[in-house]
Amino acid sequence: MTKWVYTFGDGKAEGGAAMRVLLGGKGANLAEMSNLGLPVPPGFTITTEVCTAYYEGGRHYPGDLADQVDTALRAIEGTAGRKFGDAKAPLLVSVRSGGRASMPGMMDTVLNLGLNDETVEGLAAESGNPRFAYDSYRRFIQMYSDVVLDLEHHPFEEILDQRKDDQGAVLDTDLGAEDWKEVARAFKAYVEKEMGEPFPQDVRDQLWFAIGAVYGSWMNQRAVTYRRLHNIPADWGTAVNIQAMVFGNMGEGSATGVAFTRDPSTGEREFYGEYLMNAQGEDVVAGIRTPLHLTVAAKSRNGSDGLAMEEAMPEVFGELQRVYKSLESHYRDMQDIEFTVQEGKLWMLQTRSGKRSAKAALKIAVNMVEEGLIDEAEAVRRIDPNSLDQLLHPTLDPDAQRDILTRGLPASPGAASGKVVFNSDEAERRAAAGEKVLLVRIETSPEDIHGMHAATGILTTRGGMTSHAAVVARGMGRPCVSGAGSIRVDYKAEQFSVGGRVIKKGDVITIDGTKGEVMFGEVPSIQPELPGDFVTLMAWADKIRRLKVRANAETPIDAHTAREFGAEGIGLCRTEHMFFDADRILAVREMILADDTAGRRAALVKLLPMQRQDFVQLFKIMRGLPVTVRLLDPPLHEFLPHGDAEIAEVAKASGMSEKKLRSRVATLYEVNPMLGHRGCRLGISYPEIYQMQARAIFEAAHEVAAESDSTVELEVMIPLAATKREIDILKGHIDAVAAEVAQERGRTLPYLVGTMIELPRAALKADEIAETAEFFSFGTNDLTQTALGISRDDSGSFLEDYLRAEIFAVDPFVSIDVGGVGELVEIACERGRKARPGIKLGICGEHGGDPDSIRFFHQVGLDYVSCSPYRVPIARLAAAQAALEEREKDA
Ligand code: ADP
Ligand code: MG
Ligand code: MG
Repeated sequence: MTKWVYTFGDGKAEGGAAMRVLLGGKGANLAEMSNLGLPVPPGFTITTEVCTAYYEGGRHYPGDLADQVDTALRAIEGTAGRKFGDAKAPLLVSVRSGGRASMPGMMDTVLNLGLNDETVEGLAAESGNPRFAYDSYRRFIQMYSDVVLDLEHHPFEEILDQRKDDQGAVLDTDLGAEDWKEVARAFKAYVEKEMGEPFPQDVRDQLWFAIGAVYGSWMNQRAVTYRRLHNIPADWGTAVNIQAMVFGNMGEGSATGVAFTRDPSTGEREFYGEYLMNAQGEDVVAGIRTPLHLTVAAKSRNGSDGLAMEEAMPEVFGELQRVYKSLESHYRDMQDIEFTVQEGKLWMLQTRSGKRSAKAALKIAVNMVEEGLIDEAEAVRRIDPNSLDQLLHPTLDPDAQRDILTRGLPASPGAASGKVVFNSDEAERRAAAGEKVLLVRIETSPEDIHGMHAATGILTTRGGMTSHAAVVARGMGRPCVSGAGSIRVDYKAEQFSVGGRVIKKGDVITIDGTKGEVMFGEVPSIQPELPGDFVTLMAWADKIRRLKVRANAETPIDAHTAREFGAEGIGLCRTEHMFFDADRILAVREMILADDTAGRRAALVKLLPMQRQDFVQLFKIMRGLPVTVRLLDPPLHEFLPHGDAEIAEVAKASGMSEKKLRSRVATLYEVNPMLGHRGCRLGISYPEIYQMQARAIFEAAHEVAAESDSTVELEVMIPLAATKREIDILKGHIDAVAAEVAQERGRTLPYLVGTMIELPRAALKADEIAETAEFFSFGTNDLTQTALGISRDDSGSFLEDYLRAEIFAVDPFVSIDVGGVGELVEIACERGRKARPGIKLGICGEHGGDPDSIRFFHQVGLDYVSCSPYRVPIARLAAAQAALEEREKDA
C-alpha cells in the first residue's frame, strides 16, 4: 500500500524537512517545525505523488486516498478536540498548495473551510463571538468562490463596499456581526445566481472540491508557463496541505503576520516584518489595512504610528523571537515566516528560506560564518553567481520617480541615462564632446561598436537576449534593453514613438537593463560600492576554485576593470576591435581593399605604430599575467566602406580611384561572411597582415620588459584554424618575426603560439593540431555556431520555438550544449593532451561567464575560463561552486 498522506502537529510529524520532494516545501517545513516542538496547528500533507498519479490516471485519485484522508482528518479532530462539520464545535481547515519549488500560478489558499449555514452558528455560539464567526464565513465564501468556483472577485468586493457605505464604515474592522452576516448572505445569493446552484453546504464536498482545485491548478496555463520559464518539470507535482485553522480575527488579542529573520534587502541582523491585529491570512500583504511593524526599532525608524507588536503583545513577541532564533539556528539560514496569534497564543504557519537581494545574501552568508552557523564553503555555495550582476553595475535609485515608456528585454544589466541619438557616428561625436548619449537603434550591427562604446546605454526595438546588441553590450558592460517591440523608430525624422508619445533626438531617456524598463527623463542612478562582504566571500571562493579566471579585453578601461574584478590575465584580446576607432578604420579599409601586396604593406605601415601602442598600454596593465592576443579575425564585410562618403574617404587616403575601389568592394562581397574569408584564412592569403601584428606584439612586449624587467606571459593565438597545416604555416611566420625582434633587441622573450578551437574539424583533429599549437582556447561561440549549423545572428527568429518545443533546454549560445558541443570540447581536450601532455586549455566564448557552462569546463579540466570583465566575479564564484560540487561527489 502506498502512503499518500503524512500527518504533522502536536510536537511530532511523519515527515520532515528532508522530505521536500514528496511533501513539497510547505508541507516538509510544517512537519519539521512540528518535530522541533514549535506550535504548529495540526494537519496533514497529501503527497506530490498523488498529483502525478492523478494525471497519469486520467484525473482520478488513487483508490485508497479517500480512506487515508479520513484517517488523517480524524487525527486532527482528535488533537484539536473538534469535529469537521460538527454543529457545535466545528473543525475548520485551510487547504494550501505547495510544491518542491514555490510557484506562482498555483491555487491560492482557502481558509475557514468547513463553514456552512449550520456550523457558522455553532462557531458563533461556542466562541461567544458572532462577529468573528461571520467574518470567517464571508472570507471562506469569497475565497472558495474565487479559487474553486473560479468566480471573479470584484462583485464580492462591490457587495462588501456597498455594505460599508450603507453603514458609514471605512475599515473592515468597523463592521460588526450583523454586517458580516448580511455580507455572507449576499455573497451566497450571488454565487447561487452565477452557478445556478447554492453554495456547497456539505463540508466533505467543500474539502474534495478544494483538493481537486489544487491538483487542477497544476496544469493551468499560468502554472505551465511558469514551469517552462523556470525549467521545472511537470512530473514534480504539487502537494496539498490540510491544516486546522487558527484565528487571528478573534479580536484585539489576535493577529496575523509575516516576518524575515534578517532584513532581506540589506542582510542586517535584524528581525523584520509586519503584522495586523484582528486579521486573517493575507490581510497583511493584501493592502486592505496598513500593517504595523513588529519591532519598536523599525517603527521609530519609519516614523509610523500604531503599536509595534513588541509593545502591543510583548509576551507573544518574546515567544516569536525565541521561535525565530531557533528556526535560524536549526535551518542555518535566514527564514521567511508566517504566523498567527489566536487570543494571545502564537501559532507558526510557515517557514522557508527567505528570498533576498544579492547584497543581503552576501552579508547573511558572511555573518553566518562569523556566527559559526555555516562554514566558508557553505557560504560560497549559497550565493547565486548571476545575482552578483546586481552589485557590479550602476542601478537606479530605488526611491526615484519613474515615468515608464515601455518595456523590452533585460539584455545587459545596469542603468543608464542619456540624450537619445540614432546613429553610432553621432553617438561617438557627441560623447567625445562630453555629452551623455543613449544609442537607440532598430537593431545594431558590428559597425555600431564605436557608437555602443561611446553611449552610456543601448536600446533596440528588435532582437533577443543573444542579439548583437545584447551580446556586445554585456561584453562591454553597457546597460542594454533589447527587443522593445512597441517602439517605432523613425531614423529619417530622428525620433521614436511609443504609446502615443514622441521622443525626439536629444530628449533624455533612462533604461534599466536589469529589468528591461525604458523611462522618460533622467532617473538618478547610484554606483553601488562593492560591499566588504563581497570581498570576503570572493576571497573564500578563490581559495576553493581550481579554474583560473581571465577576461576578454582589449581597451585599457576594460583591462583595468578586469583587474579590479580579479581577472588573472586576458584570455582574449580581439585585435580587430582595436581597429574600429574612427582614426584607424580608414587604414584598415585601405589594407583590406588594397589590390596588391605593396598597397597592403603601405597601409600596414600606418597601422603598426598604433597597434604597438595599444599593446604597450595593455601589457603594462597586465604585467606579470598571461595575455592571449588573437590575430586579426574580421568578418570582412564589417570593415568594408559603405556609401559614397566612405568610399571617397578611402580613395583619398589610398590613392586608388573610386571606381576601382567600388569594384574591389564588389569582389570582396561574400554571401556567407561568417564562413568566408576570415580568421587565419586571411593570414594565409596575406601573410603580411599577421607579420605586422606579430611585430607589434613582440615590440610592445620588449618595450614593456625593457622598462621594468617584467612583461606579460605572451600567448599569440591563431583564429579559426581547421588544420595543422594552417598553423604550421602561420606559426612559421610568427616565430620568424619573434626571432627578428629578439635579434634587434638583443634579448629573447618567452611566448607561446596556440590556436582557437572553434571548428568541429579542429576539435576532432586536436591531436595533430597540438603537435604545433602550444595551447588551445575554445571559441565556443563559433564552435556552437558551426557544430549546430545555426547562425547566432539569425537564430532569433526560431530559437524561441526551439526552446518552447524543448528541443533545447536553454539557448545554446548562452549555456553550452553539453551533450553535443561539449563533447567536441572533451574530445579536443583528450586528443590535445595526448599529443602534448600538459597543454594549456582555456575557453574564451560567451560561455566563459555562464555558471552552468563553467561547471562543465571545470569537469573537463580546463585551466581557465575567460569572460567579459563584468562577469569575472561571477565566474570566480561559479568556478568555486563547481569545485565544491566535485568534492561532494568524491566524498
Ligand atoms: P502562500 O503559499 O501564498 O504563502 P499559504 O498557504 O501560506 O499561501 O497561506 C496564506 C496565509 O493563509 C498564511 O500566511 C496564513 O496567514 C493563512 N493560513 C494558512 N493556513 C492557515 C491556518 N491553518 N490557520 C490560519 N491561517 C492560515
Ligand atoms: Mg499567497
Ligand atoms: Mg505562505
